[in-house]
Amino acid sequence: MNQKKVIVIGAGFGGLSAAIRLLHQGHHVTLIDKRDKPGGRGYQYEVDGFKFDGGPTVITAPYMFDELFALFGKSREEYFDLIELNPFYRIFNEHGEYFNYMRNMDDAAREVAKFSPSDVEGYKRFVESTVDIFEKFHPYTEKPFLSFKNMMEIMPDVIKTGTFRSMYGYAKKYVKDDFIRKVCSFHPLLVGGNPFDTPSILGLIIQFERQWGVHYARGGTGAIAEALFRLFKEEGGKTMMETEVDQILFRNKKAHGVRLSDGTKLDADIVVSNSDVAFTYKHMISREDRPKVVDLYYDNIQYSNSLVVIYFGTRRRYLDSKLHHHNIILGKRYRGLLRDIFNKKKMPDDLSLYLHMPTITDTSIAPEGCESFYVLSLVPHLDAKVDWEKTGEAYRNGVLEFLEENYLPDLRSNIIAQHHIDPLHFRYGLNSYKGAAFSVKPSLTQTGYMRPHNKSGFFDGLYFAGAGTHPGAGVPAVIASGKIVSNLVAEKYGISRPEGVNSAGELV
Ligand SMILES: Cc1cc2nc3c(=O)[nH]c(=O)nc-3n(C[C@H](O)[C@H](O)[C@H](O)COP(=O)(O)OP(=O)(O)OC[C@H]3O[C@@H](n4cnc5c(N)ncnc54)[C@H](O)[C@@H]3O)c2cc1C
Repeated sequence: MNQKKVIVIGAGFGGLSAAIRLLHQGHHVTLIDKRDKPGGRGYQYEVDGFKFDGGPTVITAPYMFDELFALFGKSREEYFDLIELNPFYRIFNEHGEYFNYMRNMDDAAREVAKFSPSDVEGYKRFVESTVDIFEKFHPYTEKPFLSFKNMMEIMPDVIKTGTFRSMYGYAKKYVKDDFIRKVCSFHPLLVGGNPFDTPSILGLIIQFERQWGVHYARGGTGAIAEALFRLFKEEGGKTMMETEVDQILFRNKKAHGVRLSDGTKLDADIVVSNSDVAFTYKHMISREDRPKVVDLYYDNIQYSNSLVVIYFGTRRRYLDSKLHHHNIILGKRYRGLLRDIFNKKKMPDDLSLYLHMPTITDTSIAPEGCESFYVLSLVPHLDAKVDWEKTGEAYRNGVLEFLEENYLPDLRSNIIAQHHIDPLHFRYGLNSYKGAAFSVKPSLTQTGYMRPHNKSGFFDGLYFAGAGTHPGAGVPAVIASGKIVSNLVAEKYGISRPEGVNSAGELV
């Protein structure tokens, strides 16, 4: 047996995935998080009888959750239910007309015909072409990218599939109508990328959704985080919530534990950080320990956008509106708005929104007769120097006013519960460098080998799972990063418990 003491910093989905898998390998795993509940960005807020999922709402690839339960001979269905959604999204143009983004190709093609009949064939070819992208690149999402050789291996496929093009540029090859191009290329926005410069390798998300569906977890995404947390504890994992790690400790370039913010030191043979990778290097590793090149790197790479999210519950239902469960509301200006946010780091005057209306699918998360929502607005990260303390309220009011005028009549007088987050929450609440909502931005030069690695190149025993590392942001990606970390640990230290045996020593 080669049991190690492992500390996982952060109970986000990446941290939970790594912790569960390392526990299954037979290690002593302690999961530490500064918040009182697990989930990280997927934290569920409870306000006046409403349950608001803090972040991820679009759930796909259920097999990735199933795998974690199956490791211990358990079935995911015993822990939470998934409900399949169709349409996946309702996407509104600036005139309030909508496109139902359907799973079935013929249904989706009928929606294309509503806006641009001449694009139907192109749309079908576009969607079919993403099968090739998926088949070529999906296997790499569960493998580490630790050497430049790995990168060279995929380059011929990047060239062959044309996926060096931006997502929007790729869609443009197939369809002419600008709104349909947006419909084909918005997916990078779900993981912190600008469709105009994120490589169309991310087209593989389109196939993730088509192959496995888009789901909602009954009780909200918070139910998934709670289920994974429960599994971890049931199988013998130790948890320390409301506990903040201040520093990772090293001896001879090897991690040997952590120091908590109250000064307590905890020993470990292996430390896995699910805290933002840039924050970890710049704030949780002392200047004496970290090489100068680390600061140079993290000061010069690009970070994703930030967000303002307003969670609100109304005393009435809005079932008579044209909204669905997942709504994407695009403004008139799109490329310019994204350029302001991603490139110029400037607050735009206009809005593009995502509106979540989960009570359409699940009334259990709101008091009877009430509707629960969250509206998410893209904003630049903290380099934009916006004084959120001063201007945040006016901004949020503007968003609610827009919804009231265009989608939800009398909204503001019907709100009975409310909460919000903004870039300051990402920076100080979640320890994300520059308050970026999705950590390191996905781009051609920040993908694969060129993205922060899952294993530190500077320190032994230090690993990273989470949005800023390979393969990237989004729930499936961070769950995969946890799997990659556990495989790297197994490669280095061996597995102390054979596959197929649970913590009680029983065959599963
Ligand atoms: C509003 C929003 C909507 C989103 N929607 C979707 C979606 O619909 N579908 C999708 O797939 N993805 C979505 N995403 C992206 C997805 O939520 C994230 O990429 C993913 O959840 C990040 O997980 P993570 O493992 O990196 O950890 P995080 O969620 O970032 O969690 C990290 C954890 O570490 C803890 N921590 C940090 N530092 C310390 C420390 N020093 N000591 C102790 N604890 C610490 C934090 O408290 C936190 O709990 C969304 C993101 C946001 C913000």
